[in-house]
Amino acid sequence: ASFQTHMQSSHPTFQAAKASAWDATDKGKLVQEVLRMVNNDRRNPYSKVLRTGSATKGIVGDAYNDEEQEAIIWTTNLYLGLNRDEAVMKEASNALAQFGTGMGTSAAASGMTNQHLEFEAEFADLVGKPSACLFPTGYTANVGAVAGLLGKNDVVIIDQLCHASIVDGARLCGATIRTFQHNNANDLETVLQSEASPYRTMLVVLEGVYSMGEGAAPVVEIVRMAKKYNALVLVDEAHSFGFYGKGGAGICAAQGITEEVDFIMTTLSKALGSLGGVVAASQEHIDLLKSSSRAYIFQASISPADMAAALTALRRLRSDDALRERLWDTTRYMRQRFEDVGYDLGTGDGPIVTPHFSNKDKLYAIVQNLYQRGIQTSAVTYPIVESGRGRLRLICSAAHTREDVDKTLEALIAAEQEVEKQLDIVNNEIK
Ligand code: PMP
Repeated sequence: ASFQTHMQSSHPTFQAAKASAWDATDKGKLVQEVLRMVNNDRRNPYSKVLRTGSATKGIVGDAYNDEEQEAIIWTTNLYLGLNRDEAVMKEASNALAQFGTGMGTSAAASGMTNQHLEFEAEFADLVGKPSACLFPTGYTANVGAVAGLLGKNDVVIIDQLCHASIVDGARLCGATIRTFQHNNANDLETVLQSEASPYRTMLVVLEGVYSMGEGAAPVVEIVRMAKKYNALVLVDEAHSFGFYGKGGAGICAAQGITEEVDFIMTTLSKALGSLGGVVAASQEHIDLLKSSSRAYIFQASISPADMAAALTALRRLRSDDALRERLWDTTRYMRQRFEDVGYDLGTGDGPIVTPHFSNKDKLYAIVQNLYQRGIQTSAVTYPIVESGRGRLRLICSAAHTREDVDKTLEALIAAEQEVEKQLDIVNNEIK
């Protein structure tokens, strides 16, 4: 009972769920769902550890015992596998030797190396903006950008599926928070019409690609609608930077809408394989953020090794189309093979591949069964997708091979058959 009470008050998943835009959904049901997950050891998301390996392939283990095994890992967002690139690792280790482990302070108080400055300039140049501003994580980049820009008299209008960090930034600055239906420009217009006023700033926030296995968002349509009402626009490119657009510049570049987007944000932890967050914008907007964003001013900057890794990765992805081609080749191959044997992958076409399942218990059992077969995956269920339904989530990386895909599909078919038999036995016993 005390474990349960502890989880209720402090478990991070529980807290994250509470803090997100999901508040709009039925909270009671959400609480039940999260508690069920954390109280069931096998579904506790914090029990998985990587003992050694590359985060797409390695030895995985259990935090609470000595069990371990080799696994193909489909649960990280290391889209280009740059976390294991020889040059990236070498530059990170050189920076470690040159500067030591940590910067020890914020950018405003001497926490910058030339590499921090070079990253800001080169990222801004790649995405097509005059300037950029680094934060220690993607999460704090969103919090810092939204809260740094707006005040309590302003309005932030968020796609209902946007990441929790955007909602948290909005809460922190006390702005009015409105949401619009996912990817729906007409619904956005209704909200814009009801909030428009010459006396306050409106900021519309969306993602270039959402993380539940969809394709690119209709960024042009949403941005043009926002501009019709003179709203500022921030696009979070966490799941698109590095592998959409020329040089990996992202969805805004791919859709030719960069000029009309005021803020382009991404994380350094996914395609770039490091840690950090960055926002690119006009010089005036970046100056504003650097002088008003508390997440920027009062937080230590990115460590030298992480910074060198991200900078080297940025240069690499910009100049090397082969990495992107490999990611897209694996993605297309996986989608084709899974669809050929009858899996419903929804309408998406990106590297997050999500076979749909109508029975949530079966889905969780499949995740466990796959894990025992050396395939690490995750399940996405309510409240991220509608209640009672679920998706298996497989995140492709340029570091995965076609052989990894074949092995995974074979294991999934076997796992599903085994789980169906087990569930049949359970159902019969209940009867
Ligand atoms: N935005 C989006 C859309 C994300 O998916 C994430 C990470 N899941 C973040 C921001 C935060 O990035 P980070 O994990 O690097 O802090």
